[in-house]
Amino acid sequence: MREDSGACPSKPGDSGKGVVYVVGAGPGDPELITIKGLRLIEIADVIVYDRLAPRELLRHAKKGAELVYAGKEPGFHAMSQDDINKLLLDRATRGLTVVRLKGGDPLVFGRGEEECLFLARHGVECIIVPGIPSFIGAAAYAMIPLTSRGYSSSFAVVTGKEAPEKGFTSVRLGDIARAVDTIIVLMGASRSPEIFEELIKVLGSNALGAVVINATRGDQVVIEGTLGELLHLARKGRIRNPAVIIVGKTVGLREKLCAESVES
Ligand code: SAH
Repeated sequence: MREDSGACPSKPGDSGKGVVYVVGAGPGDPELITIKGLRLIEIADVIVYDRLAPRELLRHAKKGAELVYAGKEPGFHAMSQDDINKLLLDRATRGLTVVRLKGGDPLVFGRGEEECLFLARHGVECIIVPGIPSFIGAAAYAMIPLTSRGYSSSFAVVTGKEAPEKGFTSVRLGDIARAVDTIIVLMGASRSPEIFEELIKVLGSNALGAVVINATRGDQVVIEGTLGELLHLARKGRIRNPAVIIVGKTVGLREKLCAESVES
């Protein structure tokens, strides 16, 4: 058992090494980053940023800061995870302040913990700054409550795609659909037909769902419909990356919420 103030129970002492801040950039709208995250971008010597971190935020970097794109697009990786780890370690070891900028929150399917583990093993301090996860941003900007009295008392967030090297799936969508009221799937675009098929087996094809593409960005698209309709679109390849899939009764509140916000 252990009790402490949080963060790192045994912080490395002042080693003369720089610090790596693993910063959540939020879901897409550049204004959704935290004040702390923005302040760190302003002072960083090096910023290593991901594909889904809003590029607009880089305008706040100081003059002369090193900006490195480390994005992983489906089928194309600008840098391997190994090279990213080595780059972070190298810059921190030189005493530089490094911001590792990630879309959403670093600890939600963000591999922030993997990079921190690597740095910690090499004696470099790593500080995690949270960000608004994509599904929280998507729900808000699409007006879909994740919980609501009488409609949903629980939600689960799962990945639609697991690390292929695992060779098995630990996400049992059917069981999840039976256990929680609102189901959220990230990284589900490429497997969306199978995802909707699996959910339909438990919830039926008339259950409601929504897909939020490019959530919180200027080009956000919300597709709302029954699971049967969404399956049809998915089979036609219309569910594009990056997309958040939200399934549950609260999707039905959307129209009402939008209408009421126009009136007031
Ligand atoms: N750390 C991120 C998740 C990274 S996994 C977070 O906290 O949200 C990448 C997945 O996140 C994408 O496949 C997609 O499902 C989701 N995602 C991230 N940004 C998104 C956006 N602007 N719109 C829709 N989905 C997004």
